[in-house]
Amino acid sequence: MKKHNFYAGPSILPQYTIENTAKAMHDFAGMGLSLMEISHRSKQFIAVVEEAQALFRELLNIPEGYSILFLGGGASTQFCMIPYNLLNKKAAYLNTGEWSKKAIKEAKFFGEVDVVASSDDQNFNYIPKDFKIPADADYFHITTNNTIFGTEILEDIDSPVPLVADMSSDIFSRPVDVSKYAIIYGGAQKNLAPAGVTFVIIRNDILGKVDRPIPTMLNYKTHIDKDSMFNTPPVVPIYAALQTLQWLKSKGGLTEMEKINKEKAQMLYDEIDRNKMFKPTILNPADRSRMNVCFVMNEGFEEKEKAFNDFATERGSVGIKGHRSVGGFRASLYNAMPVDSVKALVQVMQDFEKQA
Ligand SMILES: *Cc1c(COP(=O)(O)O)cnc(C)c1O
Repeated sequence: MKKHNFYAGPSILPQYTIENTAKAMHDFAGMGLSLMEISHRSKQFIAVVEEAQALFRELLNIPEGYSILFLGGGASTQFCMIPYNLLNKKAAYLNTGEWSKKAIKEAKFFGEVDVVASSDDQNFNYIPKDFKIPADADYFHITTNNTIFGTEILEDIDSPVPLVADMSSDIFSRPVDVSKYAIIYGGAQKNLAPAGVTFVIIRNDILGKVDRPIPTMLNYKTHIDKDSMFNTPPVVPIYAALQTLQWLKSKGGLTEMEKINKEKAQMLYDEIDRNKMFKPTILNPADRSRMNVCFVMNEGFEEKEKAFNDFATERGSVGIKGHRSVGGFRASLYNAMPVDSVKALVQVMQDFEKQA
């Protein structure tokens, strides 16, 4: 049976990425060796890193003055590296969910943290709108897509101080005005590659402003100076990321991706709104994530939750169980998810309603 992969992360990747990476496991770049057993300093692998950086620049239209890094440690290590490198006295954070909270916790090790607004009063089911970014903050941190709660900041906001964004789960899902950001970072395992590589797009001129000494591996400058080759970078996930970037370009880039992502998300939200058995957890359509669509059983149908999960799984729609802090369901519709898979889930919801 065809599987429709709705897992939140690690998650669906293009067949192109999976097949080319599998081939390179046996023979990378005609070297007669596996991608797993070659030097990261071989000219063939340096070419991979350079092409991946070039495609980052092309797809996201990254201006001059930014570096693109491929690091280990996950987005979670960035929660610490960002304040380590940027927080001199005070940083501002927007609290929109679990990942924001984790980023805030790390920043507090380094200085004062001003949480300018939070949606924790309603279990993070909206994006706060009325907040003021303090002009004396060293930077302002946001999480653009809240993978767990299913909200998303779809506008590139204007910030009077350097803007730092965790885009782990919506990178490459739409065009972004990179010039508005000082740092964009994320774990690759939601929308780009298998787990193991973290991308960081960083404006070079924001560094060098803190007084504290920074350990070598946690200092962005180390990795900028050595072009992500200070130590051994995650070779296999970087190769896979390059395949996804090539695939994105062949699909028409981010304007086209955004069009398809809007269509897929709308299709599913429409069915959640229509189907009497379900209701959305995010009520304001402007705040709804296109990547992670969260919904729960409607009043009167609460006891059918497990039955629906089994019903969907039996029909090939896998990975829809919601995060424990929200419950219900979460269907993740990353770039690689075909429109037909969303149609299949909508059909499953309609069939479930009919037989109930
Ligand atoms: C998954 C996720 C993270 C955590 O990433 P790791 O690479 O596992 O550290 C951080 N932020 C967001 C928005 C995520 O979706």
